[in-house]
Amino acid sequence: MANRLITADRIYDGQGSCFTDLAIVLNGSQIVDLVPLNSLLSADLENYSGVICPGFINAHCHLELSHMKGLVDSGSGLIPFIKDVVTKRGAGQEVIQAAIAQADKEMWTNGIVAVGDISNNSDSFEVKANSSIHYHTFVEMFDFLQEADAQQVFESYIKVYRNLKEDYSLYGSVTPHAPYSVSKNLFRLIGDENRLTNAPVSIHNMETPAEIELFMSNSGELVSFYEGFGISTRDFKAIGKTSVYYAMGHMDPHRTTLMVHNTLCRQPEINDVQNWNKNVYWITCPSANLYIENRLPKYRYFTEAGAKIAIGTDSLTSNWQLSILEEMKVIKRFQSNITFDDLIKWATLNGAKALHLDHRFGSIQKGKSPGLNLLKDDTGKSPEALGKDLVVEKIA
Ligand SMILES: [Zn+2]
Repeated sequence: MANRLITADRIYDGQGSCFTDLAIVLNGSQIVDLVPLNSLLSADLENYSGVICPGFINAHCHLELSHMKGLVDSGSGLIPFIKDVVTKRGAGQEVIQAAIAQADKEMWTNGIVAVGDISNNSDSFEVKANSSIHYHTFVEMFDFLQEADAQQVFESYIKVYRNLKEDYSLYGSVTPHAPYSVSKNLFRLIGDENRLTNAPVSIHNMETPAEIELFMSNSGELVSFYEGFGISTRDFKAIGKTSVYYAMGHMDPHRTTLMVHNTLCRQPEINDVQNWNKNVYWITCPSANLYIENRLPKYRYFTEAGAKIAIGTDSLTSNWQLSILEEMKVIKRFQSNITFDDLIKWATLNGAKALHLDHRFGSIQKGKSPGLNLLKDDTGKSPEALGKDLVVEKIA
């Protein structure tokens, strides 16, 4: 296979550097060399106007909820949102499968090369097994804090996990849903299962004030939400601290952990989590946060703490599209203090590290096959401005 020689106005390598005088030598999908432009004699140089960056990593998605696009109102808050997901997710397999296949294709077109995807069932496995995208599937468990139900819940989800690994040979791990929906017993069972691998785990974290209220004082909207489903929180003991402390108390401090959403996290929590586990990645899904709770994390708290941030789209139930570039635009629009260099790193290398895929994805380095995205704005605006007309085109 002949090598391709590729350059652009600027090349962002995903690790925080930007080059104006570099060509990428590509064989198939693999970067075999990076050479100075002025050393090239070849006339075969592909020279793009715009910027090149590594393929995007979507660190948080729920592919199996793709058929619910537009079914749930925006702006009503997390608890009505969850109620809607639980009650409206049923549909015919044809509808579900078509939506999953379409969503997978949409992500690929949008320059996404790897995804951390949450699954409660096996619906997405067929598409994942045949996709050009690399998936790490988090088989997600919850028992609504019912200690007595944990074993039975675990056994039903572990069948989904075995199906993923044994029948589809896909990458994955088992994972808790959120502090407010996972009992101590279930945390223990999940931890025991994951001890057999070094795979990352994920958890939804500090997304709604009701979650904080539950853990501070066993009161608030989550208690009435559970009661509405006939679930008692009598056994549950508030800890007088925010929910992330409950999660830390029952998760493995030595395992790569994706904390997802974190909209209500403030500096003390962020520092305590950083001290608890050196391999925490803070996954932000800004469009979904705006869709569901109309609120964004304060990114400055995280950057000041030296936290590693990565980006997710969440599912089409709470988003208008599955595009990491669109998520970058949202962050830039609402918190313009975040630099383009940082956003590229969040969108590429940090996500790859969070999913243990940085040997292959996330940065433009010799030996890797990260995929190459061209970002260009035909209105003449600089790509770094992340204007609304900036588009992504997969060039490798
Ligand atoms: Zn989610």
